[in-house]
Amino acid sequence: MTDLLLNPRTYDPTDLDPEARRLLAATIGWFEARGKTELKRAHHEREWYDDFLTFIASEKAFATFLTPGSVGGCWDTARICAFGEVLAFYGLGYWYAWQVTILGLGPVWQSDNEAAKARAATILSQGGVFAFGLSEKAHGADIYTTDMVLTPDGSGFRANGSKYYIGNGNVAAMVSVFGRIAGVPGAQGYVFFAADSQHPSYELVKNVVSSQMYVSEFTLHDYPVQAQDVLHTGAAAFDAALNTVNIGKFNLGFASIGICEHAFYEAITHAENRILYGKRVTDFPHVRQGLTDAYARLVAMKLFADRAIDYVRSASADDRRYLLFNPVTKMKVTTQGERVIDGLWDVVAAKGFEKDTYFEQAAMDIRALPKLEGTVHVNMALVLKFLPNYLLAPTTLPEVPRRRDGADDDFLFHQGPARGLGKVRFANWRTPYDAFADVPNVAVFREQAEGLVDLLTNAGPDAEQATDLDLLLALGELFTLVVYGQLILEQAGLSGLDRDLVDQIFDVLVRDFSAYAVDLHGKASSTKAQQLWALEHVRKPAAAADRYDRVWQQVRDLAGAYEMRP
Ligand SMILES: Cc1cc2nc3c(=O)[nH]c(=O)nc-3n(C[C@H](O)[C@H](O)[C@H](O)COP(=O)(O)OP(=O)(O)OC[C@H]3O[C@@H](n4cnc5c(N)ncnc54)[C@H](O)[C@@H]3O)c2cc1C
Repeated sequence: MTDLLLNPRTYDPTDLDPEARRLLAATIGWFEARGKTELKRAHHEREWYDDFLTFIASEKAFATFLTPGSVGGCWDTARICAFGEVLAFYGLGYWYAWQVTILGLGPVWQSDNEAAKARAATILSQGGVFAFGLSEKAHGADIYTTDMVLTPDGSGFRANGSKYYIGNGNVAAMVSVFGRIAGVPGAQGYVFFAADSQHPSYELVKNVVSSQMYVSEFTLHDYPVQAQDVLHTGAAAFDAALNTVNIGKFNLGFASIGICEHAFYEAITHAENRILYGKRVTDFPHVRQGLTDAYARLVAMKLFADRAIDYVRSASADDRRYLLFNPVTKMKVTTQGERVIDGLWDVVAAKGFEKDTYFEQAAMDIRALPKLEGTVHVNMALVLKFLPNYLLAPTTLPEVPRRRDGADDDFLFHQGPARGLGKVRFANWRTPYDAFADVPNVAVFREQAEGLVDLLTNAGPDAEQATDLDLLLALGELFTLVVYGQLILEQAGLSGLDRDLVDQIFDVLVRDFSAYAVDLHGKASSTKAQQLWALEHVRKPAAAADRYDRVWQQVRDLAGAYEMRP
């Protein structure tokens, strides 16, 4: 069962194309040859990863994965996700250089500016990296209020303003910068343009984080923007920003998975080999429970994210279900990653602080992912828009097949305006739950999920509560669990996952649903009917000692299964 988690010793995703497999293996080989001592030294010395980028350039890895069909390559989300998982397995910093390259390329690949696209393809093939300049120091998520201002100068524009939190802003040959044209009101004034971080009018102010990755603050001083640099104008610039974030935020879940996998091997191996009071640490019942829960959560993250790839790759103007599964991958999978690390940390305790472990950086890095590309709140607010149609008005839709076919995911660069989310329809969420009705904890969870439909039908939020985001977020957590369970079960069915493990995963989901129900109960504005509903839907998972023991054995078998070369 060890191959449910990425294990560099055995990893070979046979459903991907030969070139992707070669690059994945070469990348693992590069990190392993470098070894853990060197990985940790560079991490602690916050050394910019020139050696890594040289390797990436020599293999044309970013160019192979990130050049879309429109400029002669193939943008295949499945292999992009696999590559991101591998990079995060070895360090979030390496993953981040890749992630912000994806974000930086987003506005370019969505543009009609063919010259800019050709330039980007050339830079990529030469091993260059990219950057995405959306955030500003004062404005956070509020991108409507940009202070990057372009003033017409006769031949083009002069850009003035600063950006903050911009990855790769120290080296990127193309920084996709969002701003507005002076004097043009509202959405009509928005603009996306490409800047060169090495231009004399581009001032690199500082790295705002203390890390290997470079998260820059930069300022443009009368930076010349010519027609050939303009990627989008008006409402299209705003759509390009949102659609780029849509493409990028999907990757965050896979980074969380990679981090948790590496940390998991360290934790289980340490606990199994540590003897206290004459017994292994893994003999403590609470340690077994903690590790089994962490494993169930991690496998659930993988199942959900793996299936979400299919929906992203099958997306079209007529099938926008990915717009729900995408923020759930970003928000739910990454926050589950935090739960996994928390659970593991309780087991490894002091070991999790030791400087030569991967764990000590995982413990910090795992916190970043829920906060990038929009916070958990912002994504939950998005997820809530889909709730009525998903739960209350399912319809008949074609089943989305498994998608590992090597096609170019061109639709991602033609997503159109991110509007009408409340109109997106879904197939009946009950179908996969029916297929696993004989699994005891799926059945218990199904009762809770049906209860959520009752709540919304009979005691849903009133007009005042509908504007109370604090209450709605609690409701959103309950809703997200139902969506999460749907794709977990779809993937469990497609991959023939062991039923014991499905049961164990839903043992966790039943407890999580109960906890969120109690949270809803405690909200200041919850009504009497909502409070009653909450308490009535607290459920105990179906316990089964033999099933638990079998799953625990799978977990214990991971001890010693992988250790990075020193
Ligand atoms: C390491 C790192 C790297 C980054 N790299 C980049 C990059 O390369 N390019 C780039 O452009 N940006 C980058 N960012 C910025 C990142 O995308 C923002 O941090 C993120 O969008 C959240 O903004 P903020 O942290 O300023 O939070 P704020 O926007 O200040 O939010 C404050 C609080 O308000 C809540 N909130 C805000 N708006 C809403 C809403 N609409 N609904 C509900 N709640 C809301 C938030 O959840 C949060 O609790 C990076 C950030 C970090 C930390």
